[in-house]
Amino acid sequence: MGLIVAKFGGSSVADAAGILRVAKRIADTKRAGNEVVVVVSAMGDTTDDLIDLAKQVSPNPPGRELDMLLTAGERISMAVLAMAINDLGFEARSYTGSQAGLITDSSHGKARIVDVTPGRIQEALRENAIPIVAGFQGVSQDTKDITTLGRGGSDLTAVALAAALYADVCEIYTDVDGIFSADPRIAPKARHVPRITYDEMMELAAAGAKVLHLRCVEYAKRFDLPIHVRSSFSDKEGTFVIADLNDQSKLKKLSKVGAIMEQPIIAGVAHDLGDAKITVVGVPDRPGMAAAIFQAVADAGINMDMIVQNVSVHESGATDVTFTCPRGDAAKAELALRRIEKDVNFKDIDTDENIAKISLVGAGMRSHPGVSATFFKAIADAGVNVEMISTSEIRISVVTRADDATKAVTAIHSAFGLDADGEAVVYGGTGR
Ligand code: ADP
Ligand code: ASP
Ligand code: MG
Repeated sequence: MGLIVAKFGGSSVADAAGILRVAKRIADTKRAGNEVVVVVSAMGDTTDDLIDLAKQVSPNPPGRELDMLLTAGERISMAVLAMAINDLGFEARSYTGSQAGLITDSSHGKARIVDVTPGRIQEALRENAIPIVAGFQGVSQDTKDITTLGRGGSDLTAVALAAALYADVCEIYTDVDGIFSADPRIAPKARHVPRITYDEMMELAAAGAKVLHLRCVEYAKRFDLPIHVRSSFSDKEGTFVIADLNDQSKLKKLSKVGAIMEQPIIAGVAHDLGDAKITVVGVPDRPGMAAAIFQAVADAGINMDMIVQNVSVHESGATDVTFTCPRGDAAKAELALRRIEKDVNFKDIDTDENIAKISLVGAGMRSHPGVSATFFKAIADAGVNVEMISTSEIRISVVTRADDATKAVTAIHSAFGLDADGEAVVYGGTGR
């Protein structure tokens, strides 16, 4: 039929039974006449367990060594999966990211792919073998050290390989039946979304829907490569991520579901519990102060997301500047700010880790008035307090207390009429 790159996430290969189930699925795909390249994540929560182990021996391990440690997780799963497939009568060969030609820059923990040279994968395919590639890892072009692509990065390995190999589709196998209108783990009434555009999926991923890695969607968009997100625990058709929902040409060979005539106004509600909120208190209200603060944070290599500056208090002539950043970077951000404390002359720094970011995403927002009104009424009726607000053309995000996340997501989901009749199935995983 065609060339399929199939990626299996950690929850799909959590134990020996999972490995055997996935091996059978790959054998079936091969038997149906496809060429298959497999990308696999570490088993279950192995990556988290390895991070915990590292933290027990060193509070701040060097990036090079942490990457070397974490890539061991994917080495285990690729080797055992290859063994299981070989027992089913097909030749499977495992490859590390480096062997598969995933060439990156040298920023440990968040390396960027600079080249993909999958010579050994093509050779395996020519010899009718099934290549099994360790996800989430590569090798630095300059230092030749082993790197990782960032948490959830196996999705990116799969899409990058699929693009380099001119695959027909990149299949992402996970523990739910595709992309839903909210995380089925906290919103059981989440509705299955049969198709979604790259742009909407990028906004959802950036807003915390970790079902797909943000950079993998960006990469797929650049190469116009369809992604099919589906469950490894069921045979149901999942969700296709494509450029244009009205363009049937890409899906003719891939999907049994016919045309979807009307694009819904709302694609989904996402939540993110991974951020912290940092407030720089008592910043003198003078030109250049915000620039100094944001420069210091940027120089520390930290991505800020939402930013708010309060109206200055008249008597003091001072204001508060608040921003959000990944929780793991909060301590580093505080340190960077302390370094400019004397120059900027602010009063204090307040770090709050108990926040959630809740976002509503939909391309239809552009042309439908009243979306914001419905959104804020739903949150208010649920008794949830809004601490920060930001918007893009197709997204509204707010910061709330972390404890309010489920309440806010389900309220917004209902208010936009997204609730499904049945309950969404979560087949596995711990949601960690
Ligand atoms: P894997 O181990 O396969 O990489 P992940 O845990 O990274 O799986 O991603 C799958 C999970 O993403 C689901 O179990 C679900 O809890 C979560 N998720 C968050 N938002 C969504 C959404 N909108 N649709 C589907 N799943 C979502
Ligand atoms: N094992 C890695 C992680 O847990 C990569 C992945 O699963 O995509 O982040
Ligand atoms: Mg994932």
